[in-house]
Amino acid sequence: MRFPLGAAVAFTVVLVLASCDAVPAESPLVAQGDESQAEPPELHPVDSLFGHLAYEETAETLADAGRYRDTGRVVQLRAEAARAFRAMQQAARQAGVELVPISGFRTKSYQNGLFSRAIRKYGAEESAARWVAPPGYSEHHSGLALDIGALESPGTDVETTFEDTAAFAWLQDNAHRFDFEISFPRDNPQGVSYEPWHWRYTGLADSP
Ligand SMILES: [Zn+2]
Repeated sequence: MRFPLGAAVAFTVVLVLASCDAVPAESPLVAQGDESQAEPPELHPVDSLFGHLAYEETAETLADAGRYRDTGRVVQLRAEAARAFRAMQQAARQAGVELVPISGFRTKSYQNGLFSRAIRKYGAEESAARWVAPPGYSEHHSGLALDIGALESPGTDVETTFEDTAAFAWLQDNAHRFDFEISFPRDNPQGVSYEPWHWRYTGLADSP
């Protein structure tokens, strides 16, 4: 699948103009420059499409983070992130909360299938991209992003209602201890829909 270069460039300009000072300095969202505006943004173009940043498929070693309870599908992450998730899952369990991995590393080809389905559902690339990242623009390609669910609440998997679960409450209080943080909070500057289930591992120097 191909996207018009003009659209990507146009959105890049919007993203640069809309950059938010509240974003932490280490975030890729502000890679185009600091608030002093000392450097023209065009020296640091952000490769993005409909608000989603570009990611390469990781070539690093993957490890199992567990299985998705509904399908038995093995969920993989970069080895360090998988280890951190398992440690976090264990700590949650001790607090009476069962976290389940839903989706981790994805190839661009797999993402292409998800995005094609989203286009059929939402009617156009731009509206589909509010819910599903286009191939090449999913944080899941990095092997450091993980969709997390509550074991006892399958109906909240990949749904905004996940925020009402004990699992989400526990993650909000504790995920930082394991170097996980939510990627798309409410009203995020990327304009991506709120995804309380989608977390990324930040414990590596090349973490997104
Ligand atoms: Zn996700």
